Amino acid sequence: MQLIETLPDSAMPTTRRILDLLRHGQPNETVTVKGWVRTKREQKEFSFVEVNDGSSLAGLQVVIPRDVAGYADTIKRISTGASIEVNGTLVESPAKGQRIELKAEAFQVFGEADPETYPLQKKRHSFEFLRDIAHLRARTNTLGAVFRVRNAASAAIHQFFQERGFLWVHTPIISASDCEGAGEMFTVTGFDLNQPALTEDKKRVDFSQDFFGKQAFLSVSGQLEAEIMAMAFSNVYTFGPTFRAENSNTSRHLAEFWMVEPEMAFCDLLGDMELAEAFLKHIFRSVLETCPEDMEFFNQRIEPSVLATASNIIDNEFARVTYTEAIALLEKADKTFEFPVKWGVDLQSEHERYLAEDLFKKPTIVTDYPAQIKAFYMRLNDDEKTVAAMDVLAPKIGEIIGGSQREERLDVLENRIQQVGLDPAPYWWYLDLRRYGTVPHAGFGLGFERLVQFMTGMSNIRDVIPFPRAPQEIEF
Ligand code: ATP
Ligand code: MG
Repeated sequence: MQLIETLPDSAMPTTRRILDLLRHGQPNETVTVKGWVRTKREQKEFSFVEVNDGSSLAGLQVVIPRDVAGYADTIKRISTGASIEVNGTLVESPAKGQRIELKAEAFQVFGEADPETYPLQKKRHSFEFLRDIAHLRARTNTLGAVFRVRNAASAAIHQFFQERGFLWVHTPIISASDCEGAGEMFTVTGFDLNQPALTEDKKRVDFSQDFFGKQAFLSVSGQLEAEIMAMAFSNVYTFGPTFRAENSNTSRHLAEFWMVEPEMAFCDLLGDMELAEAFLKHIFRSVLETCPEDMEFFNQRIEPSVLATASNIIDNEFARVTYTEAIALLEKADKTFEFPVKWGVDLQSEHERYLAEDLFKKPTIVTDYPAQIKAFYMRLNDDEKTVAAMDVLAPKIGEIIGGSQREERLDVLENRIQQVGLDPAPYWWYLDLRRYGTVPHAGFGLGFERLVQFMTGMSNIRDVIPFPRAPQEIEF
């Protein structure tokens, strides 16, 4: 993709992004940069100021000679965190590790940052501490790199699907369906919670009198609606926020997270697995291409396996095993698991990690899970015991993608709904899709933050989304 790295700026036509200057800037070019100061060193004849504008991990070294107009007054006001503008000329840098630097001819301060109180000083801060100052943490090296990778991965996702003719569909955030209890839900209500309308016996809230006329929730998944759209456009995907009232404080769960859910008509489980694999490979390749410095940084400073993992994904075919084979492999493992394995149990993350990390040492797709541990909409296999489900397990993370071929046969689907004890009435429209022009179809869901965690090696999911929502966490 061709990057346009210069922002249009009619007032100041020569303002350049620092990424652009570091990559393409030439000696003798006259430029203006604007950004935030990372460090300042005052010396006898010059001051050295490192400026970062968020476009790249590396900042631009600015050299400000003492004879620049207003030097004495302005340099005093500059400290870590201050916002400044510098006009000057690019020169070759004598310093190691940088090709060019900017020799200032004029400079000004937009806003100071009092060093007595500015919380981000030139030292390592813990990620816990940075979460408490989420309004400032995007200015740090690590979080800056995370959010650039997050952006690059988002763009790669859209590019992947758009190039293949998938329609991006916007599924609702407020929903009345619970998508088979994918997670605990947040209720959305118009009631004054001090005086909600009550049923006649006064024992329950009467949602028929609420805003939507029935109980509504923040959506836990857009899949069912994506299926509706796939039955008209063949190939679609969702990419948007989903919500789960997860009351578990883990490093892998957020209350608000982004999901990617492709859904394909005329597609079976095999096609689904192929798409999932091509999809992950594309995103990794694309992010390495767009953000090489950031990825190198993660490898050096956060998790030394980041680049190896990326090549592992790009270069290898994913391993594929059925659930039944996986259970046999786990039973043979010379390792005691906290949760014992036997056919019929759901795989715990220790099992998933053993398969992907220790045994296959690469992403592993497990297929054909027992019907009783999977959702009602997954297609029943001919053995009538397993369903056409697939999970992609990733080393270090466990499940990263969960998908399935969907049950397209009306009678089988109705049976399954009954078996799992769901009321079929609210699913009338979902069943209609099987009444009118039904086709084999399949799709999967990817937790976007889990993917970003996986790419960057960041251990806590709260540090890969700008403003994490989790129990007791909503300040920003
Ligand atoms: P888990 O077992 O980790 O709770 P799940 O089985 O509830 O996951 P699904 O319902 O299959 O997950 O959701 C699809 C994808 O969304 C998962 O594969 C995972 O990547 C991601 N995901 C699920 N719950 C969360 C959450 N609370 N925060 C962030 N990502 C999540
Ligand atoms: Mg869950």
